[in-house]
Amino acid sequence: MSEKNLTRKRLEKAVESIENLNEGQTEFLQAVREVYGSLAPVLEENPECFDQKVLERISEPERQIIFRVPWQDDNGEVHINRGFRVEFNSALGPYKGGLRFHPSVNLSIIKFLGFEQIFKNALTGKPIGGGKGGADFNPRGRSDDEIMRFCQSFMTELYRHLGENRDIPAGDIGVGTREIGYLFGQYKRIANQYESGMITGKDPEWGGTLVRNEATGYGLAYFVREMLAVQDETLEGKTVVVSGSGNVATYAIEKVEELNGRVVACSDSDGYVYDSSGIDLELVKQIKQVERGRIRVYAERKEGAEFHDEGSIWSITCDVALPCATQNELQADDAKALVENGCMVVAEGANMPASIEAIDILHEAGVAFGPGKAANAGGVAVSALEMHQNASRDALTFDETDRRLQEIMKQIHATCISTARQYGTPGNYIHGANIAGFKKVANSVLALGVI
Ligand code: GLU
Repeated sequence: MSEKNLTRKRLEKAVESIENLNEGQTEFLQAVREVYGSLAPVLEENPECFDQKVLERISEPERQIIFRVPWQDDNGEVHINRGFRVEFNSALGPYKGGLRFHPSVNLSIIKFLGFEQIFKNALTGKPIGGGKGGADFNPRGRSDDEIMRFCQSFMTELYRHLGENRDIPAGDIGVGTREIGYLFGQYKRIANQYESGMITGKDPEWGGTLVRNEATGYGLAYFVREMLAVQDETLEGKTVVVSGSGNVATYAIEKVEELNGRVVACSDSDGYVYDSSGIDLELVKQIKQVERGRIRVYAERKEGAEFHDEGSIWSITCDVALPCATQNELQADDAKALVENGCMVVAEGANMPASIEAIDILHEAGVAFGPGKAANAGGVAVSALEMHQNASRDALTFDETDRRLQEIMKQIHATCISTARQYGTPGNYIHGANIAGFKKVANSVLALGVI
């Protein structure tokens, strides 16, 4: 058997065993297939990865914590939610990754997010391992007091697993500065110490870092700027569609507009708004951040804007598409529509928003595709800067942190390009990101022995 075929066989076998071990964990297995599907050329060079069971070791979390989160609503009714923290891999540093509060959360979702996080964090070049957590709690319609009681109950159980050198959470869907405040406050109370570096995404007033709030969205726009530069293009005058209207989408819109792109649509889980005159970001912020309302209100307040609760946001003609909502929001049919309408760049602000079939369609059509673990790494990269600042008890200016974020996104983009070229698939950002991330993690896993 040729070296190539042998590698493919061994890779298939490893993936099969991972599938058997994690039956029914659809999203997690999708993420594993997406990453490991890129690795044949690098495994051919490094057969010791098979002998040392590196693929199996990386796909098995070091520790998985599942716990009960009891809390009382404003009427005194008792609720029970399920909390998770998957401490996936600490070869490069302490576990690092966000917390998601959303009714769809289950072990498969948290494991897919944690698995992605390992390679994303490796790509940032910062000394952070990968982890993820959350709860199947639905914050929608909950009062501030209810959110606080939930966060306190969640942390009362999780605190024993956290620490600035052990495991450092942050935000994700449903967890923003308000929730980080309640979580940090409860940790501080229980641990009886002001350990700033045990969580990131804090308000700059009490230990956070400027730009962290904007970082994922800004970083995405910086990454897209690099992707366009490869094609001798810029964002100037480009029509851009951004799905979502949460933290990532908001600041992606802000930076794209600053770079003179024209964002014409955004969305939430009820539907999307189309505004051909360009999305009014102040109005989005007012509705989503101040009023914590729904995006449909945008069309009621802005003349000429339309709200659609049916159909797909990806049917809108655009040059650049930025899925910033949630996993698997961009399917094969959406990819076909984007290709037909002449889209040139798709980059993931959310984690795994595009299905594997959708990505294949985009690649075949020659659309540049930036995977989340590269394109949305700006958030966790600035989290690493926050940890750095907390450890040195110092604070950087907004401009300095933004400059570093731009540098990091540039470096991640360059790594994707050079790795993809080196391994025979020039222009394929998925292969570039997966191979570069994997190599760094695998080398460290091997160096640290069978642990
Ligand atoms: N939840 C974000 C992500 O998906 C940020 C994680 C962090 O800052 O630790 O990367």
